[in-house]
Amino acid sequence: MQQHTIAASITQTGVGLHSGVSTQVRILPAEVGSGRYFVRVDLLNSPIIPAQVAAVSQTVLSTQLGKGEASIRTVEHLLAALVGMGVDNARIEIDGPELPLLDGSARVWAESIAEVGWRSQRVNDGELSPVIKEPIWIYEGDTFVAAIPAPETRFTYGIDFDLSAIGNQWHSWSLPADVEKASASFASEIAPARTFGLLHQIEHLQKTGLIKGGSLENALVCGPDGWLNPPLRFANEPVRHKILDLVGDLSLVGNIPSAHFLAYKASHNLHIQLAQRILDLGL
Ligand SMILES: [Zn+2]
Repeated sequence: MQQHTIAASITQTGVGLHSGVSTQVRILPAEVGSGRYFVRVDLLNSPIIPAQVAAVSQTVLSTQLGKGEASIRTVEHLLAALVGMGVDNARIEIDGPELPLLDGSARVWAESIAEVGWRSQRVNDGELSPVIKEPIWIYEGDTFVAAIPAPETRFTYGIDFDLSAIGNQWHSWSLPADVEKASASFASEIAPARTFGLLHQIEHLQKTGLIKGGSLENALVCGPDGWLNPPLRFANEPVRHKILDLVGDLSLVGNIPSAHFLAYKASHNLHIQLAQRILDLGL
């Protein structure tokens, strides 16, 4: 079995969705077996926050990691890009509390990773990828997430909104085992799908001091009369973005096991609960 890290460092700057604070991110190659981890380089002693389920401190609107006083918000899009682009090990240095939202998708991250390329890392012989052997699920009201045994890693997502521009959407995407194929597929099918929001919710969130960094440049906004900032990159861009979020959240288990992950109207909270259940299996 092989792992991969990036072949050279990547630097990106931008504003966080919730904090409105501009941060600089440097992604650096990391040792085999070290996983993906964040370093708050602006804080005393540069605390390290591993991208692991145990570090999740909040799941409202975005996924936040924390350790002691140090926290990092909205980690899901970058983490999804690292998984989708086949990067197992990465040191992610950041000089503030939230990842830049960029255009609301993982496209910039995916393109930056493709540009610098990978370095293969040899893992001990005999170590196999984990596999889900029995179905597991979490549900809440009419929403659910599940992991079903399957020969390949696949993500299927459904959403249903009253607004006719979104309506009912389903999408299914499989992550090829081969890193070259996986990254090409992720970069074209999932990474470009942007964050979306509903006009009436956005007005409320802004009044309560949230989404300070939100704008029509970094999120698709949907109102009763349709999208405020078309064109869409895919007819079903919203549900593809939900797959992006799911991949990013599940990345917190470390090595995502082979399974068919199925979700309907789920949230970061449910995604993280499934990730915890997977860890509890001790694969
Ligand atoms: Zn998202």
